[in-house]
Amino acid sequence: MKEASLYFKLDNSKVQCNLCAHHCVIKTGKKGICKVRVNHEGILYTRAYGKTIAQHVDPVEKKPLYHFFPGSKAYSVATPGCNFHCRFCQNWDISQIIPDTLLESGYPATPEQIVRSAKQTGCQSIAYTYTEPTIFFEYSYDTAQIAKKEGIQNIYVSNGYMTFEMLEIMAPFLDAINVDLKAFRDETYRRIIGARLQPVLDNLKKIKQLGIWLEVTSLIIPGINDDPQEIRDMAAFVADELGRDVPWHISRFFPSYNMSDMPPTPLQTLQMAKDTGFEAGLQYVYPGNVASHEDVHTKCPQCRHLLIRRSHFGVIMNHIRDGLCPECGMKISGVGM
Ligand code: SF4
Repeated sequence: MKEASLYFKLDNSKVQCNLCAHHCVIKTGKKGICKVRVNHEGILYTRAYGKTIAQHVDPVEKKPLYHFFPGSKAYSVATPGCNFHCRFCQNWDISQIIPDTLLESGYPATPEQIVRSAKQTGCQSIAYTYTEPTIFFEYSYDTAQIAKKEGIQNIYVSNGYMTFEMLEIMAPFLDAINVDLKAFRDETYRRIIGARLQPVLDNLKKIKQLGIWLEVTSLIIPGINDDPQEIRDMAAFVADELGRDVPWHISRFFPSYNMSDMPPTPLQTLQMAKDTGFEAGLQYVYPGNVASHEDVHTKCPQCRHLLIRRSHFGVIMNHIRDGLCPECGMKISGVGM
């Protein structure tokens, strides 16, 4: 185990973790909400360092990031655990059920080895993903610093619940982030996820201020967050507070984990959410978790010229030249476009 960063020592060997907005106060011998950080006699340790539960080469579009080096590969890594307890989690077997044996059975990998693997597999970036990267911050931070020196970009796929302090430390090494905005009602965050809405909204604005490339994903779940007014509120927040050029991915829910008895999101609901996004003024709205869909392509917001054609997370054709639409010359937002 490695001593954790970002915590305070309190009386009676208690500690307070300052890595995420839960701000857990942890007695000696106990773990935080994430089950990854443990207090041993007044020292906070992270059990998520040096071993991964998953390493894969993915298209960057799978994160999803559609405006960040389109068509490139991302070396994806994860450790077990999460600071959220979403009842609909799609990766519950590595994020929610974390016996000690799972933490110990990962593949040993130093930060240097992860960067080397990313280079050997021709990846443009390393994605800290599948589970919540905030809870393996120290591991991702050490890896990201080495990656940056080697010319490899760093990506977080996150629930956006970290503290400002963590974001500020990570920001110089973080090139892009996709944040899940899972609902726009605090009650839903409390009841279904085990967290609060406001820290996520604050972090989304902070990420923009820090200049990290941002895309937002919202999984639309029937009966949970598919109310048209809630979707309007969500779209208005992204457009007005984050920017009309922030890509918004609206994903289709499929039954999973503690919501395996729920129906998948009807395609009409996804269509309604997409229309709502455009009505709010967003320039790029993409459906997700749909096998093939006309709207997964990127069109110029100004002249509607087809710019990027995608299929199953692959880029089939990219017409953007030097970040501009070849037809009308509009600048297309993103990095490495
Ligand atoms: S990372 Fe978050 S959930 Fe885990 S111990 Fe720290 S404050 Fe608690």
